[in-house]
Amino acid sequence: MGGTPELKLYNTLTREKSVFKPIDAENVRMYVCGPTVYDYAHIGNARPVIVFDVLFRLLRHVYGESHVTYARNITDVDDKINARALRDYPGLPLNAAIRAVTEKTETQFLEDARALGSLEPTVQPRATDNIAEMIEIIERLIARGHAYQASGEVLFDTKSMADYGQLSKRNLDEQQAGARVAVDAHKKNPGDFVLWKLSDDNEPGWESPWGRGRPGWHIECSAMSGRYLGDVFDIHGGGLDLIFPHHENEIAQSRCAHGTDVMANVWMHNGFLQVEGRKMSKSEGNFVTIYELLHTETFAGRQWPGEVLRLAMLMTHYREPIDFTWNKLIEASNTLSKWKRAAELLSSQSTAPIDPQVLKALADDLSTQRAVQRLSTIAGSAFAAFHERGAVSEHEVEQEQQMLVATLVASAKLLGFDLLEKTEIDEAVAVEVDARVKARLEFLKAKNFAEADKIRDTLAAEGIQLKDGKDAATGERVTTWEIKR
Ligand SMILES: [Zn+2]
Repeated sequence: MGGTPELKLYNTLTREKSVFKPIDAENVRMYVCGPTVYDYAHIGNARPVIVFDVLFRLLRHVYGESHVTYARNITDVDDKINARALRDYPGLPLNAAIRAVTEKTETQFLEDARALGSLEPTVQPRATDNIAEMIEIIERLIARGHAYQASGEVLFDTKSMADYGQLSKRNLDEQQAGARVAVDAHKKNPGDFVLWKLSDDNEPGWESPWGRGRPGWHIECSAMSGRYLGDVFDIHGGGLDLIFPHHENEIAQSRCAHGTDVMANVWMHNGFLQVEGRKMSKSEGNFVTIYELLHTETFAGRQWPGEVLRLAMLMTHYREPIDFTWNKLIEASNTLSKWKRAAELLSSQSTAPIDPQVLKALADDLSTQRAVQRLSTIAGSAFAAFHERGAVSEHEVEQEQQMLVATLVASAKLLGFDLLEKTEIDEAVAVEVDARVKARLEFLKAKNFAEADKIRDTLAAEGIQLKDGKDAATGERVTTWEIKR
């Protein structure tokens, strides 16, 4: 494990942060619930994509790139998909219409994930390619007395599992009391859930021992995680909203089918996301898709680079709720442009190891917010070293600065930022620098020279040079700026 501190992760199953011990350090296995592909992914969906990508990168750093298997599924069978297919492609046969919806949406999701700087998971199985595996698990559950057939459905019998509800810490009686809808007459217990249901002619279906039908949602993840990661694996992740019922039911299916004590050792959940202080919803008018944020001017009147969105997410710890605001994007944009300007000081392709404090922060239950602060501190030190030139031995300063910048670049890479890559960030830099130049002019007008000089010095430290002059037409004071490369 080299110089990496012990990795500690918060486990929803135990409600504790504890040292992570892989079942097999040669093959660390992680599963994260992926998208249901019927519509554009929204920025709430971006959060687990980014958070678990950082974990994937950290695990690869600790255990070696070829010793981590990350599976994220694509749910391409779902009643929402059918509805969308019928709405958007009324002229096509159902199967072709469904394929049109799922292929288009899946392609878009993968494009979004790439734009957010995420690595491709090791495997991205589709539900429809794993129907046989689902049928096999359901057969096993029936054989073991955990599932039953009723009214054209196969249902999981929640009372057949003594410790059902361990993850969400709910017990069946509570669920019964809290049930909002009347108990379906065909269910033995109100919490029983669908494993398989029969399909009409205008619904997609596969032949099964129980007739032509389709799987329930939960069984998909049990089948795909089992196939690619084994009966018991290391880490299962997803959003907080998936704890109940989705993850609870995945656990019930997998444990009862395989006769194991756990499905995954560590269960990790990222917190909720709000937009400008309110729950994101189409009716509130604050529903933002990743695509819109990246490619349209829907949010705050401009496009935002994927890496800015990524940083905005990582500025908050993954378990905390996040309030997604215009200010947060501006802050992320400023921070990232500062890092990139520092990276431009790298005179050769010198390399340095990842900063120990960045590693320590990430190893502490993925404290990305601390890692981000640390990177800004390193960038600040690199600028400061630049200014010391001439004061002491120039060679020493140069060396110190190169070390700092190389450390910054290597450490940012672990968080998924390529600071040496020239990107659309330039536009974001311009907006941010313009704002500061304007603020300085205001201070000059108000004869607050101390504040004005402070802004000029900070910009200079970040490699931006100001030129004051007069507008030829109006005679007013104007300031232009350029990045000193
Ligand atoms: Zn799942």
